[in-house]
Amino acid sequence: SAFVQAIEAANPSLNAYVTELPEKAIAMARQSDERRAKGEGGVLEGAPLGIKDLFCTEGVRTTACSSILGEFTPPYESTVTSNLWREGAVMLGKLNMDEFAMGSSNETSRFGDVTNPWRRNDGNNAKLTPGGSSGGSAAAVAADLCLAATASDTGGSIRQPASLTGTVGIKPTYGRASRYGMVAFASSLDQAGPIAKSVKDAALMLNVMCSHDDKDSTSLKVAQPDWTKAVGAPVKGMKIGVPKEYRVEGMPEELEKLWQQGIDWLKDAGCEIVDVSLPHTKYALPAYYIVAPAEASSNLARYDGMRYGVRKEGEGLSAIYSNTRAEGFGAEVQRRLMIGTYVLSAGYYDAYYLRAQKVRTKILQDFQNVFQEVDALLTPTSPSTAFALGELSDDPLTMYLNDVFTVTANLAGLPGISVPVATDHLGLPMGLQVIGKALDEEACFKVAAQLE
Ligand code: GLN
Repeated sequence: SAFVQAIEAANPSLNAYVTELPEKAIAMARQSDERRAKGEGGVLEGAPLGIKDLFCTEGVRTTACSSILGEFTPPYESTVTSNLWREGAVMLGKLNMDEFAMGSSNETSRFGDVTNPWRRNDGNNAKLTPGGSSGGSAAAVAADLCLAATASDTGGSIRQPASLTGTVGIKPTYGRASRYGMVAFASSLDQAGPIAKSVKDAALMLNVMCSHDDKDSTSLKVAQPDWTKAVGAPVKGMKIGVPKEYRVEGMPEELEKLWQQGIDWLKDAGCEIVDVSLPHTKYALPAYYIVAPAEASSNLARYDGMRYGVRKEGEGLSAIYSNTRAEGFGAEVQRRLMIGTYVLSAGYYDAYYLRAQKVRTKILQDFQNVFQEVDALLTPTSPSTAFALGELSDDPLTMYLNDVFTVTANLAGLPGISVPVATDHLGLPMGLQVIGKALDEEACFKVAAQLE
């Protein structure tokens, strides 16, 4: 009830939830109480959660914040969310996001911008972005409108909003969380993960969200440790790599200092710090912005006005397709579809898509090389703190630069966590990122907990 009331009070200004489910939440909570009274119950019994609007929820509108999905109400549940309900969690509602998860500022949603609950402390009261694409998830957690939230990360959409809102977000190794019932953006990069108030909460959420799933052909069949055990475990003797290519030009001095601070803290805790090089890092962003739109153009071909959501009539099939897609998709999604279709087209495929896939292999090899030597990498999460809404919305190229530190982990399929470490001179949160070896989320949790 407290969370339902908090949402009612704060959501009109934050716009974090796009669907509020007060009655459903109270009913789920009552059932949870009953289970507990009988001495039954799961590990998330009664925990009120928010769900990013790209996880299909049975009987609850799911739109990926795109007009093209209209009032689409899935007849089935995503694996990630059913795992949560099985353990007793309560659904407060569906959370705002960039349309189809394309964006870094939550300004491309059909439901409008999300406002970051944080403001600058210098009297400039400009509304700030919570980051994106999981801006609703991050803002809701930061503003205590849920205990934790689900999110998804294709190029940084869990970690960057976590960094901009002072929350913890982890993207697990590709294949840990099932993509079944998640609206697809770029299938070889998409991974689900939590945004939470603490490293421990994130570990608990990830424990439940991940599972092997026959319904997702890329789901891994591997042992899953209890990640909460890694939180607070000693880091002494761990080797932490600091990649020199992440010292990008134009990074605010305060972020540089924060990074150094993190390095010093880990050194004090007994870690060995190793300077490392990931030489292909500079190609990661261009490769990502070829691979992701290419996969998106294929995944989003299904929105044709026939099978889902809205249809705009026209003279003949082709007119129906184009009218539906011209009206149903926003500007950023259309931009990605044009890029994606272009890089896959005959004559350009070799020059762009194939080349980007080769670069992707090089980036993976860079990581494999340094992970022969170190246990985890420490970097900033985002090159900036929260910026003002509207500041970059007309400047896609600068917007894409926001993902410079996060896309590498997606291209290589590695786990990455963002942990809030300090605030800058304007009082805005800044996060650091820990990237681990494939399947070594434990190292991410250990190091993040040390920095928390
Ligand atoms: N900002 C990146 C993009 O727009 C990443 C988004 C994501 O991780 N879903 O593609």
